[in-house]
Amino acid sequence: MELIGHVIGGQEGPASDGDTFETIDPWTRRPWARVARGTRQDVDRAVAAARLAFDQGPWPRMGYERRGRLLFFADHARMRPSEVFPMDSGHHAYVRYDPAGVVAAIAPWNFPLMLETWKIAPALAWGNTVVLKPAEDSPASATLLARLAMEAGFPEGVLNVVHGFGPDAAGQWLTESPGVDRITFTGESATGRAIARAGAGNLVPVSLELGGKGANLVFADADLDVAVPWSIRAIFSNSGQVCLAGSRLFVERGIYDEFMDRFVTAADAMVLGNPAEAGTQLGPLASETHYRKVTGYLDTIPADGGKVLTGGATGDGWFVRPTIAVDLPASARACREEIFGPVVTVTPFDGEDEGVELANDTLYGLNAMLFTESLRRAHRVSAALQAGTVWVNCFFIRDLRAPFGGVGDSGWGREGGDYSREFCTEPKAVVMAI
Ligand code: NAD
Repeated sequence: MELIGHVIGGQEGPASDGDTFETIDPWTRRPWARVARGTRQDVDRAVAAARLAFDQGPWPRMGYERRGRLLFFADHARMRPSEVFPMDSGHHAYVRYDPAGVVAAIAPWNFPLMLETWKIAPALAWGNTVVLKPAEDSPASATLLARLAMEAGFPEGVLNVVHGFGPDAAGQWLTESPGVDRITFTGESATGRAIARAGAGNLVPVSLELGGKGANLVFADADLDVAVPWSIRAIFSNSGQVCLAGSRLFVERGIYDEFMDRFVTAADAMVLGNPAEAGTQLGPLASETHYRKVTGYLDTIPADGGKVLTGGATGDGWFVRPTIAVDLPASARACREEIFGPVVTVTPFDGEDEGVELANDTLYGLNAMLFTESLRRAHRVSAALQAGTVWVNCFFIRDLRAPFGGVGDSGWGREGGDYSREFCTEPKAVVMAI
């Protein structure tokens, strides 16, 4: 079986003690590769390699243009101006954005490659070096990316990957390392709290992209040919294993019956199967543990007074069909907690004020969606929703220059464009007498 190794100092290799863990294909439910299991020594070696590459290597010194030849995100770093402040006192102040140092990046298992690049690319573009700890359930793409980086000519130690687990393992040791200058984390809110505490221990700035419980408001004046397919995608794409999922759907009462007819029909028509085959729209859940978590939430729906209109586990593999639950009180566990599966709760509402109140009744605040053909309502409701991103008549469209992140239990800070620059650099004011 193939070994997915750590990549440290430009070399791929096993764990210091040779220990490994299996990575499982959720379709066959069988292991398809073994992965190096990071020891404390591996973490220390990776941080030391990144430190050496930052302190003595060419990467932070080669400039935006040369770094940019090996990256994406590079144009933004090169093209952004910095500020100059002419002063009445006969001085001027200007701002330098110098790299912060060694960035520790810790990623979750859903969309592993994409989410890892959202962290790695800006960190590298501004001249930092990186130690990435990918999720234990989806480790392979990180090593593949690091192999490509070595092939493309990255100097050794600039991008390091250490595999392993979280608590009391590689993830925690990385966040506690005194050699790290920034910690950027995407994952569950509870883990975010642990990582914030670890960052506080060394006074290291931490950026947290955490869980969500996205509200999706469909107003009576929405175009249902737009609202129904987007609402389907918002909750069922990637089998609902999306932090941004529109898992709380609120439909204005005047169109509730018509919307639900179309929504249920579209959900039932989705094709489940092998994710590697063209035509499959819903794959299995990512792991057995996660399957048990999601199906555990299905059991709470009748217990909390709700009804499942359609969906449920197929009983074959780790598959859950698109599941639509109704009649739940806002206090129900399925309405409040992040299920992270293809499960949506639907609630009718009367008028804009009630819709916004229901949407904001959550500890999370990563994103929200709204569907309306009224321009004025779109602006008004976007302003009233407490969320880091609001999508109007669409979902999951991202411009990498725009801020991305959440409020409340959904996180700290923002990624993207200048927001990543704030995090990845030490802005320095230089004041000159003229
Ligand atoms: P998780 O928090 O269990 O694990 C994420 C990563 O943290 C893994 O690499 C894990 O090994 C590591 N980890 C766990 N405990 C740690 C600790 N104490 N110290 C250091 N590292 C530790 O999350 P998950 O189950 O992999 O991912 C799903 C979660 O991620 C969901 O809550 C989802 O909403 C969230 N998510 C958020 C975004 C976003 O952009 N806001 C994007 C994707 C996923």
